Amino acid sequence: MSDCLFCKIAAGEIPLKLVAESPTCLAFRDISPQAPTHILVIPRAHIASLDGVTDPAIVADMAAMAQRIARDEGIAEGGYRVVMNTGADGGQSVHHLHLHLLGGRAMGWPPG
Ligand code: 5GP
Ligand code: ZN
Repeated sequence: MSDCLFCKIAAGEIPLKLVAESPTCLAFRDISPQAPTHILVIPRAHIASLDGVTDPAIVADMAAMAQRIARDEGIAEGGYRVVMNTGADGGQSVHHLHLHLLGGRAMGWPPG
């Protein structure tokens, strides 16, 4: 999608701090980190949200990439949080599917 921020990031049109990439996914650091480690994992292809997923294999690819990055970043042992904000009530602000990988501090519950 030409007016989608994360499509532009995936196309290399906006600078990013790349963390990992695969044929289907891309991971980069969040511009406004909410934890010592805050990484976004996105599919290369545009999908608006989890609600728009038709082939769940993409979600498995994203989760596998997050698992690998958590180990590489040294947060797997202490624990981490994976979030997919979906739609208005979910607090989604960028309408291109993404997974937040947050770690490096203890998380609160319930989320706001
Ligand atoms: P959402 O609120 O949709 O779940 O998450 C969108 C995330 O994208 C936010 O955490 C926000 O900080 C991040 N973000 C927004 N614009 C940019 C950008 O241009 N670059 C990067 N790296 N992250 C961004
Ligand atoms: Zn997009």
